Amino acid sequence: MTTLYQSRTGQPKIHPYEQRGLGTAPYRFVGVRKNVYSPVPEVQQPGGTCSYCGTGILFEFCIRSSEGKEYTIGSECIRKVDSEIYQPSEFILALRNHERDQRHDRETRQLAELTPIFFSPEYQQLFDGQPHPNKFYAEQGSTKWDYMKFCWNASGSRGKIAMGKMAKKRLAE
Ligand SMILES: [Zn+2]
Repeated sequence: MTTLYQSRTGQPKIHPYEQRGLGTAPYRFVGVRKNVYSPVPEVQQPGGTCSYCGTGILFEFCIRSSEGKEYTIGSECIRKVDSEIYQPSEFILALRNHERDQRHDRETRQLAELTPIFFSPEYQQLFDGQPHPNKFYAEQGSTKWDYMKFCWNASGSRGKIAMGKMAKKRLAE
């Protein structure tokens, strides 16, 4: 049996999950979880599978069909299906949280890579001999490197990543 859904344009439609054989509409959003597969500690791979398209997924958006069966859907398919049919606010909220987590993970990785480059002796020595841009501090014997360290410490993650990228580029020249 198929259940027809009102799409945003008012046309009755078969729910795409249902078309894929994932039980019967209506669906309820249950939550989102991270599923990491780590065969060895250094390797982190998506541990889940999207029930809708079969892709390996790290973040599983769980839905429950009217029969009470649960399925896990990837964020891409959630987005695709949602924009077509219906956007329960929890989906969007969970998707936003998921995107924030992804951004956070990416920033953590970038900082781990770029921090040692910024603080490498090779980069430091480019500025060590130059005076601090502020005359007062320059007269106290502070260097441009002191200034750069100050800027680093005063910056948030995005600022540090930008400075780290600059260092990486400069050292590659
Ligand atoms: Zn999918």
